[in-house]
Amino acid sequence: MVSLSLIQSNTQIIVNNGKNTSFWDDCWCTAIPLKLKYPNLWKICRSKQATISEIVSFVHSQSAWSLGFSRNLKEVEVNEAAQLLDNIGNPELNEDQEDSRVWLPSKTGNYSSKSCYEIQYINEQNTTEKFTKSKLIWNEVVPTKVSFFIWSTLWNAAPTMDNLVRRGVLPPLTNQACNFCGSCQETTNHLLHHCSYSYTVWAYFLEFPNVLSVVPSSTAVCLNTWRRKWEDERHHFIWNNLPYAIWWALWLERNRRRFHNTSESAANTIIIVKALLYQWALPTQMFKGLFFEDLVHKWAQKIYNMHL
Ligand SMILES: [Zn+2]
Repeated sequence: MVSLSLIQSNTQIIVNNGKNTSFWDDCWCTAIPLKLKYPNLWKICRSKQATISEIVSFVHSQSAWSLGFSRNLKEVEVNEAAQLLDNIGNPELNEDQEDSRVWLPSKTGNYSSKSCYEIQYINEQNTTEKFTKSKLIWNEVVPTKVSFFIWSTLWNAAPTMDNLVRRGVLPPLTNQACNFCGSCQETTNHLLHHCSYSYTVWAYFLEFPNVLSVVPSSTAVCLNTWRRKWEDERHHFIWNNLPYAIWWALWLERNRRRFHNTSESAANTIIIVKALLYQWALPTQMFKGLFFEDLVHKWAQKIYNMHL
């Protein structure tokens, strides 16, 4: 069975007339659906199922967003709404063309069950074999304990709740709920990629570099497709080591919740990802001239020269 999250995480939407794209549910302008990025606004919006075209209104032939909330916004929601509007920009619909979906795993961009099967199964099997001894896992940047954890996810052997029950470490009736959201079964792929908490962390880092990318659906798929060459060596280092830092930060946070009964917000986990990258880069002088505080508070400006 193909999961919706697998389809979503491998599809890029190109909005034209906005009639086939869900404003809140589809990933059309951000790496995660707007309802996950702005949950407070989503809760109070009147039309949760609306397509993009239904949310655009025309006043004096000018198009504008008409979001429609069920009550006046509180202060925190006003700030979220400002960020949302910044994310989605002005509505620019092209009435003459339908929205299209580009299926990223296929060269033509068209969905096929074969390519879907490949990324779900064949890809993972090949990757598992291919990367068992690979430098992509065992390398000089990533600490061995992190490499070992990633290696264990490729064999679906990480001690997530589903695996602990499956292996009889925990009794069969144990609650297998995800330690982040509490609502889905805690599998490796859910915990490290699909959970709303994890999505938030991935989405933050996918927002700034100017590349078309989506949250990977599994560690195997990520290892197979993520790496790319960057001109700037700092960008190169960050991009290519980012998945390891995210996976490890999520795993540390998961264990904090499970064993120490404390929890950090996704915003703090994002800082931990930056701290790991900073720490792993120390022998290379990659961040020379930058303070860690710069990475925490001015990530977009200092790394990507963006002025927000
Ligand atoms: Zn979850």
